[in-house]
Amino acid sequence: MRILVCVKRVPAPGSRINITSDALNVDAAHLGFTTSPHEECAVEEAAQLVELHGGSVCVLTVGPAEAEEQLRYAASVGANEFVLIPNDTGHDWDPQRTSHVISEAIVALEASGEPFDLILFGNESADSGGYQIGVRVAVTLGRGVVNGIKGIEVLDNSVTASREVDGGNEVYSVPLPAVLGVKEGINLPRYPTMKGRLASKKAEITFTTIESEPGAQEKVRLHQPEEKISETEILGDGPDAASAIVDLLDELGVL
Ligand SMILES: Cc1cc2nc3c(=O)[nH]c(=O)nc-3n(C[C@H](O)[C@H](O)[C@H](O)COP(=O)(O)OP(=O)(O)OC[C@H]3O[C@@H](n4cnc5c(N)ncnc54)[C@H](O)[C@@H]3O)c2cc1C
Repeated sequence: MRILVCVKRVPAPGSRINITSDALNVDAAHLGFTTSPHEECAVEEAAQLVELHGGSVCVLTVGPAEAEEQLRYAASVGANEFVLIPNDTGHDWDPQRTSHVISEAIVALEASGEPFDLILFGNESADSGGYQIGVRVAVTLGRGVVNGIKGIEVLDNSVTASREVDGGNEVYSVPLPAVLGVKEGINLPRYPTMKGRLASKKAEITFTTIESEPGAQEKVRLHQPEEKISETEILGDGPDAASAIVDLLDELGVL
């Protein structure tokens, strides 16, 4: 089977996020970048499905040239084909535009090779978390889509996909080709082996430019929330602090 996984280059968790002086972009100057956990799991799931059923994993990203790093990471953990659609073109890349070029890229990739049986997205992107791209792409391509997936089983002509709900699981049967939004926890992503890391350096990345119209959204400005400063009060030292702790617990109403 042929599986496509869409990943996004996002600021690494824990990075201090600064905004550019025009308040329109995140200042990437001192940021570390990564792939979001949902998408790491999507790549792992695709690799496991291909190990089970045979086939190949293609990974696609819409991002700056540096997003090559995220594609090479995917190569080090089992993906075989890589597509980078540059978005450092000076346009505003709202979700409508992003999903449009992903859909166009999928049509082109399928026209020049095998169709994708399965297209995996993360449940939501780790930075802007709009929950839009997978659904928009699936609707454009006319394929069934389910989000929040924590279990995938591929059958002959369909996929069984399950997601957690309060007190149980919902299980969907979706005809192939299908689109699924994967959630962290579906698996434990592997670490790259030394062999995988070396192979990833040689992975061939296809850079594809796709013309696109702006979507209906316009970015007005990004807002940086005020930093919350937390204060620490030291109640005392050793056994001498015991009565102060009891008083505090009493005040908090937990005694
Ligand atoms: C008005 C506006 C202007 C913007 N301008 C820019 C801009 O100029 N440059 C820019 O980088 N961002 C820009 N953004 C942010 C960008 O649109 C979104 O981050 C991106 O489209 C993902 O949308 P989302 O948050 O809805 O993703 P979600 O729908 O939450 O993501 C779901 C899944 O879709 C996949 N996915 C999401 N984004 C990508 C991607 N880029 N490549 C491959 N797969 C992906 C991933 O699998 C992800 O887990 C802008 C956003 C708005 C609203």
